[in-house]
Amino acid sequence: MNLLVIGSGGREHALCWSLAASPLVDRLHCAPGNAGIAEIAECIDIDALDFDGIAGFCRSAAIDFVVIGPEAPLVAGLVDRLEAAGIRAFGPTAAAAQLEGSKGFMKDLCARHGIPTAAYGRFTEARAAKEFIRSRGAPIVVKADGLAAGKGVVVAQTLAEALAAVDDMLGGRFGAAGASLVVEEFLAGEEVSYFALVDGRHALPLAAAQDHKRVFDGDRGPNTGGMGAYSPVPALTSALENAILERIIRPTVGAMAAEGRPYTGVLYAGVMLTAAGPKLYEYNCRFGDPECQVLLTRLKSDLLPALIAARDGVLDRFDLRWHDEAALCVVMAARGYPGDYVKGTPIGNLKPAGELDRVTIFHAGTRKVDGRILANGGRVLGVTARGGSIAEAQARAYEAVEVIDWPDGFCRRDIGWRAIKQEAQKG
Ligand code: AMP
Repeated sequence: MNLLVIGSGGREHALCWSLAASPLVDRLHCAPGNAGIAEIAECIDIDALDFDGIAGFCRSAAIDFVVIGPEAPLVAGLVDRLEAAGIRAFGPTAAAAQLEGSKGFMKDLCARHGIPTAAYGRFTEARAAKEFIRSRGAPIVVKADGLAAGKGVVVAQTLAEALAAVDDMLGGRFGAAGASLVVEEFLAGEEVSYFALVDGRHALPLAAAQDHKRVFDGDRGPNTGGMGAYSPVPALTSALENAILERIIRPTVGAMAAEGRPYTGVLYAGVMLTAAGPKLYEYNCRFGDPECQVLLTRLKSDLLPALIAARDGVLDRFDLRWHDEAALCVVMAARGYPGDYVKGTPIGNLKPAGELDRVTIFHAGTRKVDGRILANGGRVLGVTARGGSIAEAQARAYEAVEVIDWPDGFCRRDIGWRAIKQEAQKG
């Protein structure tokens, strides 16, 4: 088969890496890709939102199946466009991707179908939003309704912060994405990212992961796209996992089908393990980045037949096998990220680092110039390792980080701390 993967981050490198291992693949392409992806796939210089360009390329290169990594083209309807042109694509339609594309849609769906989530209100007017916030008190969470590149959520510890977030968002900071707000109850607990493959009617559980959103050690500093992740999640007992599947994931799949928007693709639930049980705080309509890197590193089965089965609606006959080992990913970013940073600084020793036992280095923002790998973004590398425990995977990943020669990059030094503490407590 000829495949096309859409996207250019670490997630897409992990997808390409996994798909490249499939004996079913004849040719693997990626648009637009990056320097790491270029080593295993043919990169095509087409933007993920250039639907005409993508459809045209699919026809000219006889593409049999398209795998879409990021949310923006999904929410904008790339799957609808490709399927209408007779090109099979993995991912939700625009109508189904509203689970991520509109937080208000997601909340209303949960309310209609009794799916456990934080209490909320939806607002387009500052006065009403502020009244709601004052009546509830802090902490409270203010969210822009639409896609805001991970920046549209303010977890306000004080009333003043929440009120300022309302003015900021309705004032146009996120454009149309912030013209409507969700204000919701603050959920206390441990966060888990839970992933399932969905074929419209059935959900096939993948695995859980945890990420580290803050830029500095100890989960301090501003939010980022994600500074590291690990899987599995020690806090997620099988009873809790079952509760997530039976009370959140499967009811959502049923609800979407019942409402005429059957969901196909990866369903990524952001779940808070609260004292009152697991509660959903967000849905994403694709793999997480860097969670994808740890999930696919743990996956033993061929990924491609599973993605095709999801597209074809036959996941109920499907099973996946996983490595017993844990996986952990340390993100290396350009100094200054998530604020200002420079591009173009050289990175050395990637080859010896990537040859270490059970280590895989996924590229996020890189490009190759005259044979040298240069940083080309904020988050640049996802140094990923497997191990018998999360502590062992962490040790391997940091060993690889030490080998990489990139004076202009940095990473957190404590990825996995919570899980490693829990592993130590279990003995
Ligand atoms: P998001 O950008 O949707 O991933 O949200 C960013 C972060 O906000 C999440 O990772 C959570 O830590 C936090 N968050 C979102 N909703 C809630 C909530 N209702 N209660 C507490 N924290 C939340």
